Amino acid sequence: IHVRFSAYRTAMKSRRLQKALCLDLLELSIAQSVFDQHKLVHNGQLLEIPSIINCLCTIYRELQQVHPDLVNVPLCVDLCLNWLLKVYDSDRSGKVQVLSMKIGLFSLSKGPLKDKYKYLFAEVAGAAGICNQRQLALLLHNSIQIPHQLGEAAAFGGSNMEPSVRSCFQYVGRDDVIEVQQFVDWMHLEPQSVVWLSVLHRVAAAETAKHQAKCNICKECPLVGFRYRSLKHFNYNVCQTCFFSGRISKDYHLSYPMVEYCTPTTSGEDVRDFTKVLKNKFRSKKYFTKHPRLGYLPIFLRSPDFYRPLILV
Ligand SMILES: [Zn+2]
Repeated sequence: IHVRFSAYRTAMKSRRLQKALCLDLLELSIAQSVFDQHKLVHNGQLLEIPSIINCLCTIYRELQQVHPDLVNVPLCVDLCLNWLLKVYDSDRSGKVQVLSMKIGLFSLSKGPLKDKYKYLFAEVAGAAGICNQRQLALLLHNSIQIPHQLGEAAAFGGSNMEPSVRSCFQYVGRDDVIEVQQFVDWMHLEPQSVVWLSVLHRVAAAETAKHQAKCNICKECPLVGFRYRSLKHFNYNVCQTCFFSGRISKDYHLSYPMVEYCTPTTSGEDVRDFTKVLKNKFRSKKYFTKHPRLGYLPIFLRSPDFYRPLILV
């Protein structure tokens, strides 16, 4: 299906890439220990192809020990090397910077999102564990090369990292340096330039999710993948396919708040969201158009194409 919303489209492409490269099997800590083992400590250093291959061989041999039936070392090394060169060696020098390789591999590794943010931050932060504007720009620049290679950079602010850097430092309320926790908090707001990364994690979580609910549009039941539920109407659910293709029924206005579930709901969540529906039930379409914020995040991030449902709890 065609996914209308760029953050989801990019996240789904990234997920396919991550699986093709078997990086969905790679723990962040394993990646880190391999980088240490290969003494990749100078992030400005340019790695030649043989050094990249060496490092990738160690990574995939480790993965093969745990997943012998899933990992073909020579094939994975070849695919991953080609991917790194496509993403980070645009002028075809045959070299990739250590920092770029680390950010590329960390971004597609598995593990809790919060840990991933910490690993990424640590790569650009100085010894004191703090990061200035230039270092943050470096991190964001290397990270955005991944959607860029997938043909999706435009929706994430193109190659100019300055607005994102400014947004982060404004959020923190200072202009010299930020600490790791401040960076993590900012990332949790899903800023436009990096939203694909958190959506990637939700896409991965939703893959195996099954919800006992019926899609109000295509009548599919149960729902597999993401489940979208209206916070305006009682018992109004939309499946992932209908939501992604923008098949929202005529009487359903896009500015109405919706909640996204990437895992089956617990009874606590059901009660909580039921209360929210009660609050929204008698509010008009005009209210939602005028109040895009309901205490969570904006429904529309900058462009309508970037529609993202509410709530990240
Ligand atoms: Zn449906």
